[in-house]
Amino acid sequence: MLNIVLFGPPGAGKGTQSAKIIESHSLIHIATGDLFRKHMGENTELGQLAKSYMDAGNLVPDEVVIGMVEDKIRENLDANGFIFDGFPRTVNQAEALDQMLTKHGMSISGMVALVVPEDELKTRIKERAKTSGRVDDQDDEKINNRIQVYNRETSPVADYYKDQQKFTAIDGVGSIDDIFHAINSTITSLEV
Ligand code: AMP
Repeated sequence: MLNIVLFGPPGAGKGTQSAKIIESHSLIHIATGDLFRKHMGENTELGQLAKSYMDAGNLVPDEVVIGMVEDKIRENLDANGFIFDGFPRTVNQAEALDQMLTKHGMSISGMVALVVPEDELKTRIKERAKTSGRVDDQDDEKINNRIQVYNRETSPVADYYKDQQKFTAIDGVGSIDDIFHAINSTITSLEV
């Protein structure tokens, strides 16, 4: 099994690269932001709960996210593996993920972190705002808040995987294909 955490700040290209990775490795894509947006679109109870946090660029409470991910893992126990995109975003979530996977006889193979300078992130998010329809992409205050939340609450998750010797950083600036090739060679080395 191949279970990858694709990590990086908002605008790093996690969604774009995940789409290519799942295609070439037949993995199940668990993207917590996408799952929340789906719930919001369907106006479920979970979507209503997540909306105020997401619109402001704050994190949805851990227990809500963890429960949603656990359901997805349970629904796909026969998968080749998972790619976690936008999760875990706190050390608490990372610990919960390890516990969930252990319970099912699985573990994280590695974290791949996309490294992109802050100015470039802001430029990309503003470009994406033209077509994404995402409230949280729309103004500087929300974008800055998301980057601050990342620096404060999410970046320590990288240390959690570094401590387990499961961390690889990849330069996230360049052509989509070149970045994908770099990610792919890391993932392929984890497969053996
Ligand atoms: P994303 O699509 O990954 O940029 O996520 C959009 C928003 O969804 C985030 O700004 C958070 O409000 C929420 N969200 C997504 N994943 C998580 C997570 N793992 N923990 C908490 N909130 C999350």
